[in-house]
Amino acid sequence: MRGDFKARHSPQRPPWAPDEEAFLAACTRCGDCVPVCPTRIVVVVRGYPEVDFKRGECTFCGACAAACKDGALPRANAQARPWNIKARIADNCLPRRGVECRICGDSCPVSAIRFSPRLGGPPVAEVDTASCTGCGACLAPCPVNAIRIT
Ligand code: SF4
Ligand code: SF4
Ligand code: SF4
Repeated sequence: MRGDFKARHSPQRPPWAPDEEAFLAACTRCGDCVPVCPTRIVVVVRGYPEVDFKRGECTFCGACAAACKDGALPRANAQARPWNIKARIADNCLPRRGVECRICGDSCPVSAIRFSPRLGGPPVAEVDTASCTGCGACLAPCPVNAIRIT
C-alpha cells in the first residue's frame, strides 16, 4: 500500500529513469537532459528534471538518456522499456457526461484509445492499456483535462 502511494506521488522522471531513490542518487542536477528534448517536455522542478505532459508528448527519441552522462537515465538498448506509465481517463470525460468527443483518440499515435458504442449516449473513450505507451500525446488536447498519465 505504501509503495503504491509513493509511486503515485513521485514526480514523473524522464524515460528510462530507475526508481525514484536510485534516480535521485545518480542525477547530479546538471540539466543536460532538458535542452535536448525535441518536444520540450523535460522541465526542472526543485533542481531535478521532470516530464510535463501538458507541454507535449514523449517520442521516445532517447535524446535525454543519451545526454545524461551520470547514469540517471540508463537506457540499456534500443528495446529497453522507457517506463510503465499509462493513460487513465477520469469521470469528467465528456462522453461519460453525454457529450460527443474523440479528441484524445485522434491524438494517440498508436490508436490506444477506443470508443465503444453504447445505447443512449455517445461512444465512451477507453484506454487499451496493452497498447498505450504512456507517451502523453492525449493529455494536453483533452478539453476538460480528463487524462492522467500514471
Ligand atoms: S525520449 Fe526524447 S521526447 Fe522523450 S523526454 Fe527524452 S528527449 Fe524528450
Ligand atoms: S479528449 Fe478528454 S473529454 Fe474527449 S474523449 Fe478524450 S478524455 Fe474524454
Ligand atoms: S498516453 Fe500515448 S499511447 Fe497512451 S493513450 Fe495517450 S496518446 Fe495513446
